[in-house]
Amino acid sequence: MKRKNHFLVLTVLILTLCLSLNCIAATAETEPAIVEPIDFQNPDFIRGMDVSSLITLENAGVNYSTESGVKQDIMQILAENGVNYIRVRVWNDPYDAEGNGYGGGNNDVMKAAEIGRRAALYGMKLSVDFHYSDFWADPAKQKAPKAWSGMNLNQKCEAVKAFTAESLNTIKNAGADIGMVQIGNETTTGICGENSWRNMAQIMNAGSAAVRAFSPDVLVAIHFTNPERTDTIKALADFLHDYNVDYDVFATSYYPYWHGSLQNLTNVLNYAAEKYGKYAMVAETSYANTLMDTDGHPNTVSEWNNNTGDNLLWDFSYEGQAQEVRDVMYAVNKVSDGKGLGVFYWEGAWISVGDTRRLGGADYTARVEKNKLIWEKEGCGWAASYSKEYDPDDAGKWYGGSAVDNQAFFSPLGAALPSLRVFTDVVQDGFLLGDTDCDGTVDSPDVALILRVCVGMSVGNKDDVILRGDADRDGQLTIFDATYIQRYIVGMHTPYPIGIVTAP
Ligand code: CA
Repeated sequence: MKRKNHFLVLTVLILTLCLSLNCIAATAETEPAIVEPIDFQNPDFIRGMDVSSLITLENAGVNYSTESGVKQDIMQILAENGVNYIRVRVWNDPYDAEGNGYGGGNNDVMKAAEIGRRAALYGMKLSVDFHYSDFWADPAKQKAPKAWSGMNLNQKCEAVKAFTAESLNTIKNAGADIGMVQIGNETTTGICGENSWRNMAQIMNAGSAAVRAFSPDVLVAIHFTNPERTDTIKALADFLHDYNVDYDVFATSYYPYWHGSLQNLTNVLNYAAEKYGKYAMVAETSYANTLMDTDGHPNTVSEWNNNTGDNLLWDFSYEGQAQEVRDVMYAVNKVSDGKGLGVFYWEGAWISVGDTRRLGGADYTARVEKNKLIWEKEGCGWAASYSKEYDPDDAGKWYGGSAVDNQAFFSPLGAALPSLRVFTDVVQDGFLLGDTDCDGTVDSPDVALILRVCVGMSVGNKDDVILRGDADRDGQLTIFDATYIQRYIVGMHTPYPIGIVTAP
C-alpha cells in the first residue's frame, strides 16, 4: 500500500514537472449563478439524479460533454456539477423469451451494478430502486415478475427477499456505494401484484429485511405518488405504521403538473417526519426546459399536454428548469428537524438518440424511422415493442422513444445545459474540490498548481489553490492532496471524494 502511494507521488511529480513548464496562470471563470443557494438543515442533503437509461443510450451512440464542450464520462460531469447521489431502477427480467429487451433502459441488475460502479468512481452514492416487476411499476400497474406469477404470498415474500439480497451483493461487488434502497416504485396502489395493505406490508417487510441483513447503514425507502391527495398520502404513512413496515424514508414523486403545490408537498412530508420520525424525500421530480420534442416521440410535457396549471410556477426554459429543482429542494429542506433528506431528479440524461430539430418533411420522417430502429435494438426508448407480451395494454401499444428529452440537463447532442449548474449553485459557498484553476473541471493542470504551491513556486491564485486543492480537507496543502486528486483524474478510488463541497 505504502509502495503504491510512493509510486503515485512520483508519477504525479514527473507529470507535473512536464506540465508546469507550460502551465498558464489560471484565470477564475465564474459563471453567473442560475439560482439562489439554500441554507440546508442537513449538510448531506441529497442532490440526486436518476440516470437509469444511461447504458442503453451510450450503447446507441449517445455521448456527453461539459457545458464548454469537453467530452467526459457523464458521471464526472454530474459530480463536478454538484450531483452527489445517483438513482437507478431495477427490473427482475426485462426481456422476452428470445432475449429481446423491453426497453426503458433494459434495467436489469447488471445495468444497476455498472451505473453504481461508475458513480462511485466519482464519489457518488447509489439509491437502488427495486420495482419487483419485469417492467415499469407505477400507480397504474404493479405486476409481479413473470417468474413469480404463480407464487402465493409467502413464496413471493421469500422471492423478494432472495432477489433483493442477491442483487444488492452483485451491485456492491461491482464497486457501487449503496446508500439507499427503495422497496418498490410508486407503490401507491400495490406492489409485486399485491394490492391489499396487509399483503403489501408483508412484501415491503420482506424486501426491508433483506436490506437490513445486507447492511445496517443502508436506508430503506418506501415510495408513493400523488402528494396532492393530501389525506390519501397521509393515510399511506399511517398504513406503514399500522402494519409495522420497517423503513426509514417516506418518499413521494413530485411532478408539478400533477402533484399539487410545494406548500402541500412540505406539509405531507412533514406528516411522516413529525408523526412517525421518518426521513422525507422527493424520489422523482423533473421540469421541461422547452416544449419542443427532439427525438420524434411525443413528450410528457408539450404544447398539448401538462403545460398549464396553477402549480407550474416556472418558465419552460433553462432558468425555469433550474428554479424548479431549487424550489423543490427548498420545500423538502423545510421539513422539520432536518428530516428532509433530499431530492432526486428523474432521468436527467435521457436525451435523443437522433436529433430531429431543424428537420422537416421526408428528412424528419427518415430520422424518426432511424430512431425507432435504435429504440428497438438498444432498448433506449421508454418501451420497445417486445414489451407487448408483458404489458400489452400500455407499453405494447404506445412503445417508442424518450418522453422526457425536453426535461434533461443535456442538449440533444449531449452537451450540459446551464440548468445543470443548479446542483452547485444551491450549495451555499460551494466549490468544486480539486479544481484549483477554477475552470469547472478537475484535471492535470489542477494537480500542477498544487505542486507548484507545495514547492514554493509562485502561482496567480494561491488562496484558491490552497482552499480548493486541500483534498483531504485537513487545512494543509501537501503532496498527498496532489496524489488524491491525481488518483481521481485517472479513475481510481480516492479516500476523499471529489465533488462540490462547502467552504470551511
Ligand atoms: Ca421525445
